[in-house]
Amino acid sequence: MAGCVSQAAPSEPWLQNVSIVGVKQIDRIVEVVGETLKGNKVRLLTRNRPDAVLSLPKMRKNELIEVLSISTGCLNNCTYCKTKMARGDLVSYPLADLVEQARAAFHDEGVKELWLTSEDLGAWGRDIGLVLPDLLRELVKVIPDGSMMRLGMTNPPYILDHLEEIAEILNHPKVYAFLHIPVQSASDAVLNDMKREYSRRHFEQIADYMIANVPNIYIATDMILAFPTETLEDFEESMELVRKYKFPSLFINQYYPRSGTPAARLKKIDTVEARKRTAAMSELFRSYTRYTDERIGELHRVLVTEVAADKLHGVGHNKSYEQILVPLEYCKMGEWIEVRVTAVTKFSMISKPASIQEDQQPLSLMHLFPLAVFCLVLITLYSVDRFLYPGFFEEWLPFLADAHHDEQQAEMWEHHDNSDPVFYE
Ligand code: SF4
Repeated sequence: MAGCVSQAAPSEPWLQNVSIVGVKQIDRIVEVVGETLKGNKVRLLTRNRPDAVLSLPKMRKNELIEVLSISTGCLNNCTYCKTKMARGDLVSYPLADLVEQARAAFHDEGVKELWLTSEDLGAWGRDIGLVLPDLLRELVKVIPDGSMMRLGMTNPPYILDHLEEIAEILNHPKVYAFLHIPVQSASDAVLNDMKREYSRRHFEQIADYMIANVPNIYIATDMILAFPTETLEDFEESMELVRKYKFPSLFINQYYPRSGTPAARLKKIDTVEARKRTAAMSELFRSYTRYTDERIGELHRVLVTEVAADKLHGVGHNKSYEQILVPLEYCKMGEWIEVRVTAVTKFSMISKPASIQEDQQPLSLMHLFPLAVFCLVLITLYSVDRFLYPGFFEEWLPFLADAHHDEQQAEMWEHHDNSDPVFYE
């Protein structure tokens, strides 16, 4: 077992008989697996050692995407959070190492997208005298033409100081205009109880600035519903924020107490009520869409990097990180394609290459089927006439017999045009 939960609570009953690789021990995973296979239980949990180096060998889930963790831990102490207990305070990876890792992924290994991740992207560098824009400005320099970078989750407090620089980066042609800012609640009272260290106004300040300064920006957020101190009025404030911004991606989490966290000591909201709130927000989320019918016909340039779950489409994204599906027969993974939107759904737009006509269909086996049937019939008739029932054509299909006869004559004339004339009926 590995990850934050097993690191923070190794004595949970369900972890009693398993080996655990701690969050600071990931470079020792081979050793742990080896010992476990021999029947030993191994638990490497000490956090008092340096982080594993960035250049550890890795297997990518998608060979076109490099997921680069830029720091571990964070500067907050959110009262519901187990991750903090496992990962501790912020430790930023050095700027030069991160840039080199990105450069190698793009230039030596051919990845097409760089996804930056961390517990809180916005806090990067605060422990080493730098700020996030310092890193982002260096990273964009190593992105080759045709490749893109996507920023990961960033809490409101730290990017608030750098709105202009972040907007500038998001407007860079090789950076997706995408921001994931987890608001968690729109009630200042609840945010305070969560110790999130920002207010609703701060969140709105960031969202409004980005909407005004980054064309077509895509803002995703997270909500925690039924936090122990959330009243109906608090919940309604969160609903109101969702109505206002109509977030195209909204991760709705019903609060669940994590053992050992301060919030776990608070009295839980009744489960039925908690479910009601979750259902109401889910319903609100389903009631609007970024991908409206008016968007049908729009032209987009998209980078396709994976196959969709339906196995019929490639998944591409435009500059705004909007998801656009392209029929697989037109896609080449890792390449850009100009497409026209032909249909919309709640979560994506469906498209066809802009180069093909509206009603033009790709050539598929289905299109070749009638031709195949026609050929089969001809072969069958020919075989009947030749082997089973000589004279079949003359008796049943005289027009074909004539044509056949004419062909034979023409052929014979050809063979004899340099010799004496021969008479044929
Ligand atoms: S939820 Fe809060 S404490 Fe936990 S990792 Fe995120 S910022 Fe840190």
